[in-house]
Amino acid sequence: MSVLVLGGTGYIGSHAVYQLIDQDEKVIVIDNLETGHLEAIHPNATFYQGDIRDIDFLRKVFKAEPIHSVLHFAANSLVGESMENPLKYFDNNVHGTQVLLKAMTEYGVKKIVFSSTAATYGEPKQVPITEEMPTLPTSTYGETKLTMEKLMKWCGIAHGIRYVSLRYFNVAGARETAEIGEDHQPESHLIPIVLQTALNQREHVTIFGSDYNTDDGTCIRDYIHVEDLIAAHLLALDYLNNNGSSDIFNLGSSKGFSVKQIVETARKVTGNEIPVKYGPRRPGDPSVLIASSDKAREILGWIPERTHITKIVEDAWRWHSTHPLGYRTEGTS
Ligand code: UDP
Repeated sequence: MSVLVLGGTGYIGSHAVYQLIDQDEKVIVIDNLETGHLEAIHPNATFYQGDIRDIDFLRKVFKAEPIHSVLHFAANSLVGESMENPLKYFDNNVHGTQVLLKAMTEYGVKKIVFSSTAATYGEPKQVPITEEMPTLPTSTYGETKLTMEKLMKWCGIAHGIRYVSLRYFNVAGARETAEIGEDHQPESHLIPIVLQTALNQREHVTIFGSDYNTDDGTCIRDYIHVEDLIAAHLLALDYLNNNGSSDIFNLGSSKGFSVKQIVETARKVTGNEIPVKYGPRRPGDPSVLIASSDKAREILGWIPERTHITKIVEDAWRWHSTHPLGYRTEGTS
């Protein structure tokens, strides 16, 4: 039997494929390669290129492969873009998941681990954020992920599909051996931008806002190592395989770091100067986002082992410094 990974050529999905194969699982990858990278696919995975909105394509894969469960990472995930082009997000994220659930229902596949987000909560009234807190997304992206969770809930009631939805906080780092890592075009995330500046690919980092109500005036986020994040997905699969009922879990470190602290950590790790400039706040950025992940620890038995900010930046640096142009350096560096 195989695990189907949707979006398995992206940053987070590719790390899932590698860990599943480390655990001797048979892995099927689906990706439309719109934002992912062919080079990120593990050589032992079976790859089908196609779009999850294409029911005939999904039927072909579900018919050909003995799939017992699904990890769903296939989605657009840029907050800014989602505000400019909401229909793109509803179409790919929500409609795509609708078609996927239809195929799963038709082929009797009843287990799914889903990639959700802290953006489902919006601006929190207090931190750390627990799973019981209200979900009031402030972006189309967050709204689509919340809607995808609801699609799974109602398909669970009607068709017996069981899901685990994992709400990620700030995912960063890379596989320790650095054969895969983060490569977005264009890049918008803080840690890759800081490290590209360390590589002199950018003149400076622009810090978005220095007048937040935090100790140093810059935003605070909860950074989690991508490998720990994926470890939680594998535990979620075990949980569903052991008849666990559908549930939602936050994945974070329960610790916050400011933008300035991230730059400082990267200066220490890389030994480079990393110039900064201060710019205006980025619209929609909450000042502080910190997860309570007690529920994942208690119910899934999750112990994040690599989630220390220096380790996260070190592993990300290993990837960026050996792949300064991301996957475009493959075979040429
Ligand atoms: N940020 C920044 N400059 C950048 C990119 C990000 O100051 O060039 C800040 C951003 O405002 C946020 C934090 O870094 O407070 C993390 O942003 P990122 O885009 O990495 O993740 P998000 O929190 O939006 O999911």
